[in-house]
Amino acid sequence: MEILENFEIEIKKDVLFERLKIVKGSEDEKEFLKLLEKSAEIGRPKAIYLEGFIEQKGEDFVIINEVKFTSSILRKNLEKVEKVFVFITTCGKELDIISFKEDFLKDYWWETIKGYFLEIARKNLFEYLKEKYFLKRVISMSPGASERFVWPIEQQKELFSLFGDVESLIGVRLTSSFLMIPNKSVSGFVFSGEKDYRSCKICRRKNCPGRSAEFDEKLWQLYQKRGG
Ligand code: SF4
Repeated sequence: MEILENFEIEIKKDVLFERLKIVKGSEDEKEFLKLLEKSAEIGRPKAIYLEGFIEQKGEDFVIINEVKFTSSILRKNLEKVEKVFVFITTCGKELDIISFKEDFLKDYWWETIKGYFLEIARKNLFEYLKEKYFLKRVISMSPGASERFVWPIEQQKELFSLFGDVESLIGVRLTSSFLMIPNKSVSGFVFSGEKDYRSCKICRRKNCPGRSAEFDEKLWQLYQKRGG
């Protein structure tokens, strides 16, 4: 198990201006830059991972480090895989303790900044894993991402159990409904793979800011029929 933190925080302001439609020279820009400054001062994105060895493969499950994970799609994607990297990444609790619930616009901006810090943690982790373990191309899957039939969110419990006390390790905790706090956190498996797999292709969620691939109706129907 290894924790990654103290990442170099390079904030590409123009990317965020574009995402939030903030006009340069406007009052919004001034206010937003104050938030950005604050986030750069206190933000501490983090990642934790461990090596997960596949001990058994069933029809619709795999056993990794003595813990059972059930999902037909996960099982299929791991057909030629013997080891996964189990991970949790987060924007960090330092950003999560600040809230602008009384100000809708600032709250939205702050959530976007938190999402950006999560991206920093995730990008750094993936690059680190690729370099350290000589992985050419990686695929990632997360419980609860995409549709329920893909990999149910309840399996967060099993994933967290592999790490032990995640809250004391990187400040992320799981709620009774299996959501993570800070909300800008992502958990899952990363593994080496030849084929392209992206959960977004079989996710019907509209207007998702995190979408990385177009929804594929045919693929979705195929997986649906199979029950995952
Ligand atoms: S579209 Fe959004 S919710 Fe659906 S899998 Fe992609 S990132 Fe996740």
